Amino acid sequence: MTTLNDRLTAELTRLRESGLHISPRVLEAPQRPLTRVAGREVVNLASNNYLGFADHPFLKERAERYLREWGAGAGAVRTIAGTLSIHEDFERQLAEFKHTGSALVLQSGFTTNQGVLGSLLQEGDLVVSDELNHASIIDGLRLAKATKKIYRHKDVEDLDRILRENPTDGLKLVVTDGVFSMDGDVAPLDRIIEVARRHGAVTYVDDAHGSGVLGEAGRGTVHHFGFEHADDVIQIGTLSKAWGVVGGYAAGTHDLRDLLINRARPFLFSTGHPPAVVGALSAALELVVKEPEIMERLWENTRYFKAELARLGFDTMGSETPITPVVFGEAGAAFEASRRLLDRGVFAVGIGFPTVPRGLARIRNIVTAAHTRDMLDRALSAYEHVGREVGVVAG
Ligand SMILES: *Cc1c(COP(=O)(O)O)cnc(C)c1O
Repeated sequence: MTTLNDRLTAELTRLRESGLHISPRVLEAPQRPLTRVAGREVVNLASNNYLGFADHPFLKERAERYLREWGAGAGAVRTIAGTLSIHEDFERQLAEFKHTGSALVLQSGFTTNQGVLGSLLQEGDLVVSDELNHASIIDGLRLAKATKKIYRHKDVEDLDRILRENPTDGLKLVVTDGVFSMDGDVAPLDRIIEVARRHGAVTYVDDAHGSGVLGEAGRGTVHHFGFEHADDVIQIGTLSKAWGVVGGYAAGTHDLRDLLINRARPFLFSTGHPPAVVGALSAALELVVKEPEIMERLWENTRYFKAELARLGFDTMGSETPITPVVFGEAGAAFEASRRLLDRGVFAVGIGFPTVPRGLARIRNIVTAAHTRDMLDRALSAYEHVGREVGVVAG
């Protein structure tokens, strides 16, 4: 017999021995570009808070108003009595923003992948997924009865071959992240959609790291490539990263939304967002359009930070987006560099195998629109010192 204690001890020991055990760092102040970690003020390069919205007064004010006027919670799952008019108003606002016919909001990006992939795909369907797709896509596909194939990262020829070699009368779905979360590279959607169309396949883009970052006013990677009105493209994404709050969405045709309402299990069996979340999100979509300089600052900061890191001799893996990996080689070196950066007042997290390949352990940095030049310079100066100390740059 295995007791609970046996199980917990064995698993935790296994995690510690393989170097995979984690305990989250705690922020002792709000999610801001300058915050507190381990008792000290730090420049924060670890968040997904691209636009600085997590703590933005415009969002907080709307959240407060919705809380006051609509209450603390939704009170039921969306399909029973938990759909408030503010939920549907926001979904219309989001569909208009995305230039899609419709949009449905779920609790998170994670549950959106579970809900959409789990309810759309049936036996006899074929789904072809990029090898570096996010864990929530992988889990969503576990719920799908379709035949599953993996294509090499961004390799359109490999995708084409798999589609050719696996004919089916069922639905064909090509699944990709819009922006890949570890390398910061962008999926070649123009070529992916072209190949998918040649095989009569639908393209499914998880735009968690592209929403609020790419395309006009942050409309996303699909907009960036000019495919926003296409009925054979499904866009899903998160409201938890650039939009600064929490949630996920699926944007596509009216019928897609209708099917998800009826079939997506997280929508059917788990309560929707509280009013304050809906309020903050509606303010976020307004703000990004009203103040285009916010996105401009994100990109200005991104360009500056990347150029300065390169000048100091760091390898940022040719990332094309605000996600800026700095390569340290082995996991131990990346974790050590992260500790040293923290000692110098910079909060940036090391990532090693199995999240990224061996030898490409890195620190993943995300600058935001809210960072000032002075904060970035402080971070760069710490990087310069630490890079020399651990020997990844000369000097
Ligand atoms: C972060 C992320 C998600 C999960 O989004 P949450 O809203 O945090 O659940 C899903 N897909 C991708 C590609 C992501 O990067």
